[in-house]
Amino acid sequence: LFERLNTLMIPNHHIEKLGGRTQLVRELEMLPLEVIVRNRAAGSLCKRLGLERGELLPRTLVEFCLKDDDLGDPLISEEHITCFGWALPQELDDILAYALRVNDFLQGLFSGFGFIFVDMKLEFGRLYDDDGESRIVLADEITPDTCRIWGKTDKESFDKDLFREERDGLIDAYREIARQLGLPTAVVT
Ligand code: UDP
Repeated sequence: LFERLNTLMIPNHHIEKLGGRTQLVRELEMLPLEVIVRNRAAGSLCKRLGLERGELLPRTLVEFCLKDDDLGDPLISEEHITCFGWALPQELDDILAYALRVNDFLQGLFSGFGFIFVDMKLEFGRLYDDDGESRIVLADEITPDTCRIWGKTDKESFDKDLFREERDGLIDAYREIARQLGLPTAVVT
């Protein structure tokens, strides 16, 4: 996915795949933020706002959480982010633009495979050049561990919710996603 995003001019940390489970990436200064992009209601959004699972949102919703396990990764606003200097306003603009473009790409991709792309979590960092100037770059991972991907007809999960809800079929679901993406399914064990 990161290779495809590179060709779509969405700057990211990926340099090259070294093996089924290994990749060479650029070293970034990570921002302490989780960027959540949602197309439909699921998970914590349903709990927080009393929405029904699968409800189509009026538009794509971007939320931010502070990466802090001790605090339970609390939901924060753009105001918090700029107030505490976790990202600059211009960096936030870039993050929002990239997050929406990644979402458009993944929505289209998974729709073509017969899936609904429900939501995801992205992480970004700063890539510094030799002059000490930095720019925002997408990093971390995009996998069924960090996205919600549902079957189109029955809204069945093909993602980490199977694990979270202690249900069967996790490995088969991940294999199916890998197969659709043209990846070797042997790495899913
Ligand atoms: N997510 C993640 N890591 C986290 C929290 C959320 O990858 O620490 C992903 C999650 O898999 C889902 C999206 O972000 O695709 C939105 O998650 P939500 O806020 O609904 O929280 P959850 O219900 O997963 O706790």
